[in-house]
Amino acid sequence: MTERQDLLRNLPAVDRVLRETPLADLSEYLPQEALSSAVQAVITNLRRQILEKGEVAPAERLEPLQVARAAAAQCRLLLEPSLRKVINATGTLLHTNLGRAPLSHSALCAIQSVSEGYSNLEFDLDSGCRGYRYSHVEKLITQLTGAEAALVVNNNSGAVLLALTALGRGREAIVSRGELVEIGGAFRIPDVMEAGGLQLREVGTSNRTHLRDYQQAISDNTAILLKVHTSNYRIVGFTKEVPARELLPLAREHGLVLMEDLGSGLLLDLSRYGLEREPTVQEVVQAGVDVITFSGDKLLGGPQAGIIVGREGLVQKMRQHPLARALRIDKLTLAALEATLRLYLKPERAFDELPVLNMFSADPAFQKQRCERLLQRLEEEKLPVELKLLEDISRVGGGAMPLTELPDWAVEVTPLKARTQDLAARLRTYTPAVVTRVQNDRLLINLRAVFAEEEELLTQILIAALQAKG
Ligand SMILES: *Cc1c(COP(=O)(O)O)cnc(C)c1O
Repeated sequence: MTERQDLLRNLPAVDRVLRETPLADLSEYLPQEALSSAVQAVITNLRRQILEKGEVAPAERLEPLQVARAAAAQCRLLLEPSLRKVINATGTLLHTNLGRAPLSHSALCAIQSVSEGYSNLEFDLDSGCRGYRYSHVEKLITQLTGAEAALVVNNNSGAVLLALTALGRGREAIVSRGELVEIGGAFRIPDVMEAGGLQLREVGTSNRTHLRDYQQAISDNTAILLKVHTSNYRIVGFTKEVPARELLPLAREHGLVLMEDLGSGLLLDLSRYGLEREPTVQEVVQAGVDVITFSGDKLLGGPQAGIIVGREGLVQKMRQHPLARALRIDKLTLAALEATLRLYLKPERAFDELPVLNMFSADPAFQKQRCERLLQRLEEEKLPVELKLLEDISRVGGGAMPLTELPDWAVEVTPLKARTQDLAARLRTYTPAVVTRVQNDRLLINLRAVFAEEEELLTQILIAALQAKG
C-alpha cells in the first residue's frame, strides 16, 4: 500500500515534464495546451498502472525525461502529414487507392501558379467584369472532342448524377441489365438513378440485350436511354449488347436523350500500346450520342473531375441545375485539368508529358533493364534475401480495362529472416511509403509505375528494410 502511495507521489508534475527538451523543442509547432494534455495523458496512464498493478516497469518510465519523450511521441503524430507520398511498385498504373493518375509537370505548375496568389477564376480580364468558372476549359473540351458543349464537375459519379437528375428527374431511364454496374464504394447505377429521382427500367438479361428490348420498354414516361461502360468487368461468351449508334434512331424517333457513361474516356487511341480498343470520346460524339460523361483522373491522366460533353441545350439544363453548384470543381482542379487538356492539342505532347501515357507506352525490354539494375544493386549488398527476376503483368487499374495485361517484369523478393507480409508492412512505414504487390506469399517489385527519379530512393528503402532487425 505504502509502496503504491510512494509511486504515486513520485509521478512528476506536468510543469516539470514540460521543461524537458523533447517537449520544449515542440513548443514551436504546438500550443502549450496540446503539450500539457499529452503529458497529462501519459501521467494518467502511469497512475492507472500503479493503481492496478502496484508497479510501473521499467521504473525509469516515471522520470520526467521519459514522460516527456512519451508525450512528445504522441505530439509528433499530430504534426506528421497523414496524406503523403507513396512509391507505387504494384504495377497497377491508375491505382484508385493510391490516387489514380499522377499529374504532369505542366499541371503541377498550373496549380501552383493559380493557387499561390489570385487568379481570374471567375473574372473576365477583357471586360473587367464577372467571368464564368468553366470558360477556362469548355472551349478546349469541345475543340478536343468535337462536342457542341461541355461542363465539368467534381468527378464522373457526379457527372452521371447531374446528367440523370437534370434531364430525367421524375421520369424513366432505360438501361441494359448487363450494364447495371457498381464502380467500387457506393457508386451503383441503380442507386444513382434513385438518388436522382429517376425510375430505372432494366431491359434484356445479364448477357444479352437486343434493340427490341429497348424498343418494347419505351413508354410515355421514358426520358433517357442510358449506356454504361462496363469498366471494371467483362461479360464474355454468349453475349449481345446494343451499341449506342444503333440506339440513336430509337432515341430520335421517341424524342429521348441518348446518354453514355464512358467511365474512363479516352481522347487518344491507345490500342497500339496493347490496351483494349475502345471508342474515343470523339468517336462517341461523332456517333451522335447526346450526352457523354467520363473521368478526369483515369486514362485521361489529369486531376479528379467528371467531364460532361453533349448537345448545347442539354448541357445548358445541367449548368442551371442546383446540383451543378454543389458538384463544382475548385481552382486547383480546374488549373490542372486545363493544363492536362492543353497537352492533348498535340497528341505527341500528351504522350511525352503525361505520366500515365508514358507508363502505358513503356517498352517491356526497358522495364526488364530497370529490374535487372535493381536486382544487381540489391545483390551487391549481400542481404538476407533471395532475389529473382521474373516476367510479370502490369494493369491499367482505376476500374478500367480489366482484361488488359501489359507484359512486364518484376523483381521477386523473398526475405530469408522475415515473413513476406512483415517485409511488405515494413516497406509501408518509410517516407515515402513503398507499396508492393504480395502474390501467393511472394513480394513483387514492379517498376512500371515507379518514376525514374524514384528508383534510387526505392533501392535504398529496400536495402534498409531488408537490413532492419526484427
Ligand atoms: C470510374 C467510373 C465512374 C465513376 O467515376 P469517378 O470519376 O470515379 O467518380 C462512373 N462510371 C463508370 C463507367 C466508371 O468507370
